Amino acid sequence: MKRLKVSGPIVELDGDEMAHVIWGWVRDQLVLPNLDVDLITYDLSLPNRDATDDAVTFDAAHAVKKHGVGVKCAAINPDQARVEEFGLKKAWKSPNASVRKIIGGTLFRTPVICQNIPRRVPGWTHPIVIARHSFSDRATATDFKVPGEGTLSIKFTPKAGGETIEHRVVDFAGPGVAVAMYNIDALIADFARTTMLYALDAGIPLYLGTKNTVLEHFHGRFKDIFAEVYEAEFKTRGLCYEHRLIDDMAGFAMKSQGGFVWACMNHDGDVQADAVAEGFGSLGLMTSVLMTADGGTVQTEAAHGTITRHYRAHQAGRETSTNPVATILAWAGALDARARLDKTPEISAFARSLRTATIKTIESGQMTKDLASRIAPDHAYLTTRGFLSAVSNTLEGYRR
Ligand code: NAP
Ligand code: MG
Repeated sequence: MKRLKVSGPIVELDGDEMAHVIWGWVRDQLVLPNLDVDLITYDLSLPNRDATDDAVTFDAAHAVKKHGVGVKCAAINPDQARVEEFGLKKAWKSPNASVRKIIGGTLFRTPVICQNIPRRVPGWTHPIVIARHSFSDRATATDFKVPGEGTLSIKFTPKAGGETIEHRVVDFAGPGVAVAMYNIDALIADFARTTMLYALDAGIPLYLGTKNTVLEHFHGRFKDIFAEVYEAEFKTRGLCYEHRLIDDMAGFAMKSQGGFVWACMNHDGDVQADAVAEGFGSLGLMTSVLMTADGGTVQTEAAHGTITRHYRAHQAGRETSTNPVATILAWAGALDARARLDKTPEISAFARSLRTATIKTIESGQMTKDLASRIAPDHAYLTTRGFLSAVSNTLEGYRR
């Protein structure tokens, strides 16, 4: 079979543990035998982040920005136990947070639907795409413990002079806690534009959930900016868009058949993405794409972590049955993004074949343990490598 030439480069961000092991297998068995692609590789494994004082994370993020397309393996977000396990200089910041801060954009989480895998929410017959604003709110909040009795106020001082805005928040009678959060109009507009483009492209409706009835100004700003962008840029292009209260939205989502994009503020998206992943059946079936408003930068990844428990078994020499589907689809997504930027439909077609071959392999009854156990406790399952060989065989059939 002829290897297809990919015009532009793909920035590869490698990671840790079991995710790193399956990363290599997917790349070497499904991607490189079929494609002649220039990979610019950064090793984001925890030992290398420590050795480079985390510079490798920042270099990788800038490379994704420069070249337009990145594909990322899960990496350890170290806590104190990891600092001791790896003898680290310090608990380096979450690599995901560092990368997102540089690239910006919106994080789209999409479940993969296989007809034979029962969903925990059986009514969800179509994907629910969680679009999470990956900027600010809780992630950049200033929070602190209030030691005792006293007054809390919040103040804005305009750079150009003019009136200072000051609000007395509360008079504390005893110890407590406080937090200040912010967001920025231009980045909320980018968020609106990116989610609207995504929904328009996918041909599905978009909903934004906020609690503007409680946070009239903060959440209300999201509601207003979305409405402005919709009216000015998307209404006449046929996009269906609606704002709903976040609690109404949660109920609506449960009762729905899926088939829509749900735009969430940062913290709501963090929580809802996991609920939706489990509702559709497995973390191993959830893909994740970070995209900027101009569509010029795309980074794909699996939504799951480094799967430490499986890695311990692998280290002990045991074959595991770890689901590589989200990793395969991350590569397919990156190739698709590359094809769009390079205008190379044959690479798009290959990405589509890779995605279809993966889903058809599962639907033919060949799958890893996490999925098999969703069908029946004694359902047959393959090892990770057995499953990858099965996908490779199906893919060969598609490419012939
Ligand atoms: P995890 O790696 O997602 O794994 C949690 C459990 O979910 C696994 O033990 C496994 O359950 C199941 N699972 C997840 N992915 C699976 C797959 N592909 N196939 C089969 N089962 C799968 O989460 P974690 O154990 O909480 O985190 C481990 C490390 O990953 C942490 O150091 C964390 O910092 C990091 N992390 C990184 C990212 C990222 O880089 N994007 C995201 C999340 C977490 P069973 O053991 O029951 O089989
Ligand atoms: Mg989360």
